[in-house]
Amino acid sequence: VSRFEGIPMAPPDPILGVSEAFRADTNDVKLNLGVGAYRTEELQPYVLNVVKKVYVLSLMAENLMLERGDNKEYLPIEGLAAFNKATAELLLGADNPAIKEQRIATVQGLSGTGSLRLGAALIERYFPGSKVLISAPTWGNHKNIFNDARVPWSEYRYYDPRTVGLDFEGMIEDIKAAPEGTFVLLHGCAHNPTGIDPTPEQWEKIADVIQQKNHIPFFDVAYQGFASGSLDEDAASVRLFVARGMEVLVAQSYSKNLGLYAERIGAMNVISSSSESATRVKSQLKRLARPMYSNPPVHGARIVANVVGTPVLFDEWKAEMEMMAGRIKNVRQKLYDSISSKDKSGKDWSFILKQIGMFSYTGLNKNQSDNMTNKWHVYMTKDGRISLAGLSLAKCEYLADAIIDSYH
Ligand code: PLP
Repeated sequence: VSRFEGIPMAPPDPILGVSEAFRADTNDVKLNLGVGAYRTEELQPYVLNVVKKVYVLSLMAENLMLERGDNKEYLPIEGLAAFNKATAELLLGADNPAIKEQRIATVQGLSGTGSLRLGAALIERYFPGSKVLISAPTWGNHKNIFNDARVPWSEYRYYDPRTVGLDFEGMIEDIKAAPEGTFVLLHGCAHNPTGIDPTPEQWEKIADVIQQKNHIPFFDVAYQGFASGSLDEDAASVRLFVARGMEVLVAQSYSKNLGLYAERIGAMNVISSSSESATRVKSQLKRLARPMYSNPPVHGARIVANVVGTPVLFDEWKAEMEMMAGRIKNVRQKLYDSISSKDKSGKDWSFILKQIGMFSYTGLNKNQSDNMTNKWHVYMTKDGRISLAGLSLAKCEYLADAIIDSYH
């Protein structure tokens, strides 16, 4: 008899499990809107041209690689220096005082997830008893990350089902009601799963209450460039908090905006009020990383450092990101047009256009989402979220029929 008899079967991951079910479906009309990964109009995975060019140019011009590409020595615990510099500058803008005054501690992480996990470990170790407030709803893995790091969390109101929009008053009330010094997890842009972001004026008010309550903002920036198409615009929320002189935690990911999903490249940043405390924080982030994974992988870090550090590639990346964000906006518009012209019930579908980024929260409940999958072969998470990045213009009419049928 096995020693592992007492270990029960784990449930499938609610997001990645959708892809498994999709693969098993043999019907040709099937559509996978489960995972937030960018697809072309032909619904194929996309490798960015700039990423391909880094490979080509590094073969042609030996010096282009900031570090020689063929060296597979360990990176330092904190990661590739050229990457850490590039990622902080991309986040805050190269001329940000926090960078000039060396008030930022940046450690390369295992993409967004690993960076969040490192941030959670820092909270667990140095802020015992502190809670993290997360939005209701949020990306499903946030709860897993804080649970496994043994950081207690609770939710603040965010989504309003009546308007399929932001419950701004509820959000502010809940942040205000939290005990002083609470960590508040915020999505930098393109909120997952709702696609609903605060306006710039609302961000100011969120910063006001967080400041009044002495809370610590913890940004998850997984979609920089994907909401508006502009890297700078999508970092505005984080920059606003930093410009107020607040201390801020930021986890970054390059999975979506550079299409480097499998390379696991991202960063954990702590912006502090002094360079001296940033140095101490960085030393502790390294200490936390060492027994978890020792040091991060180099390949994705080299790609990011080369793209951001080479003006011609940086410009091309920006253009490609505009293209990707633009395709999603087109699909969003077409989906709205299709639904609102087909549906005769008088329902207001304009929320689809107000949402931003890869996702649309359709307001479909679990039974309705099941109908989408069982009857229409549309795969999506059970919370009613669809990834528009997995939708093509050609499939909008079909999806509109499926949504209208499932609603009514
Ligand atoms: N944070 C949010 C809100 C996300 O949606 C995702 C990915 O879906 C991530 C973080 C982390 O992704 P990764 O670990 O691939 O960078």
